[in-house]
Amino acid sequence: MNEYILGIESSCDDTSAAVLQGTRVLSNVIASQKVHEQYGGVVPELASRAHQQNIIPVIDTALKTAKIEKNQLSAIAFTRGPGLLGSLLVGTSFAKAFAQTLNIPMVEIDHMNAHILVHFATDETHTEVPDFPFLHTQIVVVKDYFDMEVIGKTIDDAAGEAFDKTAKILGLPYPGGPVIDKLAKIGNPNAFTFSKPQIPDLDYSFSGLKTSILYTVRDNLKLNPNFIEENKADLCASVQKTIIDILMNKLVKASKQTGIKTVAIAGGVSANSGLHDAMLALGEKYHWKVFIPRLSYSTDNAAMVAVAGYFKFLKGEFASQDLVPYARQSLKD
Ligand code: ZN
Repeated sequence: MNEYILGIESSCDDTSAAVLQGTRVLSNVIASQKVHEQYGGVVPELASRAHQQNIIPVIDTALKTAKIEKNQLSAIAFTRGPGLLGSLLVGTSFAKAFAQTLNIPMVEIDHMNAHILVHFATDETHTEVPDFPFLHTQIVVVKDYFDMEVIGKTIDDAAGEAFDKTAKILGLPYPGGPVIDKLAKIGNPNAFTFSKPQIPDLDYSFSGLKTSILYTVRDNLKLNPNFIEENKADLCASVQKTIIDILMNKLVKASKQTGIKTVAIAGGVSANSGLHDAMLALGEKYHWKVFIPRLSYSTDNAAMVAVAGYFKFLKGEFASQDLVPYARQSLKD
C-alpha cells in the first residue's frame, strides 16, 4: 500500500493530475477549461491547446499538494481513451516522457473503467468501498476491477447529452446538467409530462424525450411568447425527473434481473442532486447499498485514473512506450 501513483486525465476538457498512496488520495487537482462555454460545447482544438498549457502546472501542483517528490513515484497511470484524440495525446505523450525520465512503469487506463473504479479511491472520511459484484447505472455489472460487462446502454444520447440538449432548447448555458439541477430544485417536477421511451430489456433512449420537450416548448410558445421564461424552473424539474425516471427504471430492472443489491453511480451525471435523492430513495425501498461519489470524483478527475492505475500496477500490467490513444468506447457489451 505504499506505492505512490501519479494519475493523469486529459480525455475531454478537464486537465487533471492526482497522487495516490495505494488507494488513498493525497491530491486531486483539476483544471477546467472555461474557454468552451461561449461555444456551447467542447471545441476539440481548443481543448488540446488548453491541456498543453495546463498539464505541467497541474502535475506540479498535484505533487506539491501530496508533499512528495517526483522520484518517489512508483508508476504513472494515464487515460488512454475513449475521448478526444488530440486531448488524449497530450496526457499520453506526457506520461510516456515522464515515465521514461523517471525510469518507472506506466499504466494505461480506460476512462469509463476509471469512472466506475473511483469508488475505490479512499481518504480520511471515505473508507468504505463496494464489494464485487456491483451494478453501475447505465448499466454495467462490475465483477472485478477490470472485469465489467455492459448489460444495458443508451441507444442514442447519453444522460449528460440529454441535459445539454434540454438546456439548449430552453436557452440555458452549457453544460446543461448543473444549471438544470439548480433550477429543478425550485420547480415542480410534475408540472409537465414528457414521453418516455418504450425500449425492451435494459437499454434506454433519450432522443424521444428531446423531441417531446421541443414540441412542448414550440406549442406553448405559440400561445405565450414568455412560456419558457415563466416556466423555466418547472420545465427543468419536469425534464430532470423524466431523465432520472428513465435511468432508475432500468436500474431497478437490472437489480431484479441480476440479484445484485450494491449499486453505484459515477461520471458527470452522478453530480446531479436529483439523481442522488432518487438512488437513495430506491436504495431504501429495495435495500440496496448505494455508492455515490463526492462531487470532485463525479466529473472527470485523475484520482479515478490513479486508483485504477494502482490496481493494474499490482497486477504488473504495464503499458509500452509505443502505444497510441483510442477515441472510442471500449467497455465490452
Ligand atoms: Zn468522463
